[in-house]
Amino acid sequence: MHYNREAWDCERSAGPPQASSAPSGGSALHAVKSVGAVSCFGPNPPSDVLARMQRNGVKAVVANSRPNDGTRALAALELTRQAGVTVVPFIRLYRNRADYDNWFRDETIYDMVQAEFARGVTGSQAGPYKGIGEFHLYDSANANGPVARKLMQFAQKNKLAVLAHVDDTAIDLLMAHAPDARLIWAHTGIGGPPVSRVDALFAKYPQLMGELSYRPGLTCEGGKLCSEWRTLLLKYPQRFMIGSDTWVNQRWVQYDELMKGYRVWLGELPPDVARRIAWGNAAGIFGVTEQ
Ligand SMILES: [Zn+2]
Repeated sequence: MHYNREAWDCERSAGPPQASSAPSGGSALHAVKSVGAVSCFGPNPPSDVLARMQRNGVKAVVANSRPNDGTRALAALELTRQAGVTVVPFIRLYRNRADYDNWFRDETIYDMVQAEFARGVTGSQAGPYKGIGEFHLYDSANANGPVARKLMQFAQKNKLAVLAHVDDTAIDLLMAHAPDARLIWAHTGIGGPPVSRVDALFAKYPQLMGELSYRPGLTCEGGKLCSEWRTLLLKYPQRFMIGSDTWVNQRWVQYDELMKGYRVWLGELPPDVARRIAWGNAAGIFGVTEQ
């Protein structure tokens, strides 16, 4: 899903945010994809999106953009550092819109990822990339292609997380390439596979984590957790994280409401579990500490 009509992808994730004065007692935060480049923000320049993060207690974001210049620009900005927002940079597989549908059959994508990883990000938050993605597969069979296999093995070798927008079948196929890779399942299955299937995959792959934006069936009446999801989150308190998935500018307009919605159901959970999902799980795997 997620691409932007503009030159930049603008897919922004928010990573881990932090505990804050959530009305319900839950922590704030979320993790996920995000941020593009300075030029892609259109009506939402960096000063605007950083202000939205700040007022929602978001202290860290997973950022990825098409092309990767946007992520590098955001990480380098002094403004980002001043806002107290930690950028966790991910390597996007797409240089342009065409790559979105073709990356899995294009060997040059693998070359590009290696070069980008070798380069890292500079400036205010200089350092290595922490992950690959978000990438998309709409035909899970493509998870068996050579590019997907090499990328999974590259991620495993370099301890990069992989953020994948795929179905449950592709989770099995991707993990078969690199059983020790840290795979983050974007939306924990945007097609809405049954909770029992998610449970089975989490049991099978201890390294698998779930990001919860756009997850069908997660919340029920009043924005509260549906009962089977509450049970699942309590069964795997260390495996989930929240995300904003600001893949188009409209999501920035909705950002306050998104975070408020997360606080509603986080507030239903025991505080230690809420803090883990809101901040600790993502912060832990990316080595982010609160500022
Ligand atoms: Zn997605």
